[in-house]
Amino acid sequence: MGAGTNWSTFTWRVVQRFRSREAFRDIVAHYAITQGTNLCFANSNKKKLLRLEAKCLPSCPFRVYGSWDKRRACFLVKAVNAEHCCSRNMTKNKQLKFGYWLARQLLEVFKSRPYWPGKEIQETRRQAYKVAIETSLAYRVKYVVHKMLHGSMKEHYNKHGRYLQAIQDADPNCHVDLCTLPSKQPGGPPIFQRLFICFSGLKKGWIEGCRKLLCIDSYFLKTFLAGQLMAAIGRDANEQMYLVLWAVVEGENSESWVWFMKNMQKCLQLGDGVGLTVISDENPALLTSVASVMPMSEHRH
Ligand SMILES: [Zn+2]
Repeated sequence: MGAGTNWSTFTWRVVQRFRSREAFRDIVAHYAITQGTNLCFANSNKKKLLRLEAKCLPSCPFRVYGSWDKRRACFLVKAVNAEHCCSRNMTKNKQLKFGYWLARQLLEVFKSRPYWPGKEIQETRRQAYKVAIETSLAYRVKYVVHKMLHGSMKEHYNKHGRYLQAIQDADPNCHVDLCTLPSKQPGGPPIFQRLFICFSGLKKGWIEGCRKLLCIDSYFLKTFLAGQLMAAIGRDANEQMYLVLWAVVEGENSESWVWFMKNMQKCLQLGDGVGLTVISDENPALLTSVASVMPMSEHRH
C-alpha cells in the first residue's frame, strides 16, 4: 500500500499489516476517499490507543477492525466485512472533514506553489477523488498545509546552530558567515537573514586548479519563505562547471550582493580583482557590487 497501490480495486483482508495505528488510519482515509465511501472511526473501547475500527453508514455492513499486535510489532487487521451495500458518496466525505488528510497529500505541491488558489484545489481534487470539496474546506486545507510547512521550517531553522557546528567540526577552515536579525519579540530567538558557505576543499581547488573566472548568479528559492540562493561557479581544467561557494540571502539587492562579494573576495583572496573575470547577467545591483568590491576585475555578460 503505497504510491503504486490501485485504490479503485483495493480490498481489505484479515492480517493486513501496518507500521502503526496512524498508518492504518491513513490508509482507511485513503480508501474511503478514493472509493467514495463514508467511513468513520468508532473509538468506543477503553484501550483506544491500541485498537481502531472503521465503519460505514449505519445501514451498510462494512467494517474493518485492527489492533496492535505485540508479537509481530505491527498494527494488524483482525476482522473485516468488506461488502458495502451503500452507494458511492459524491458529496461530503467524513474523512475529508478536517482537511488533514488532504493537507498531507498536497504538501509537496504547496512547497513549490505556496499560493495555490483554493479554486484550483477544489477543481483538481474533484477530478482526482470525484468528490465535491467545499470552498471552506479548501481554505482549511491551505491553513493546515501552511501550519505544517511553517512548523517544519521553524524546526529546520532551529537546527542552524548545530548544522554550522557540524560544518566547523568537519572542516575547520570552512568559510561561513551567518547574519541574523534581532527577534521582533523581546527575548525571542534571532531571525535568519543570510548564510554564506565555502568549503575549504572547494576553495583550494578553485585557487589551485581553476582559471580565474567566476560565473555569478542567483536563483529564487521556491518556498513560501522566499529568499534567494546566490552561487559562484568556476571552470575546471576540463572546462567543466566547478561550484565554488554559495549563499542564501533574503533577496537580491545592493546590500546582499555587496555582502556576498565581500565574503567571496575574502575567502578566495581576490584582492581588488586583478586578473579575475566575472561573468553575470545584467542585474544592476550585481554590477555595482562587483565594481565597488573588486574594481580591477573584468566583467562580462
Ligand atoms: Zn458502505
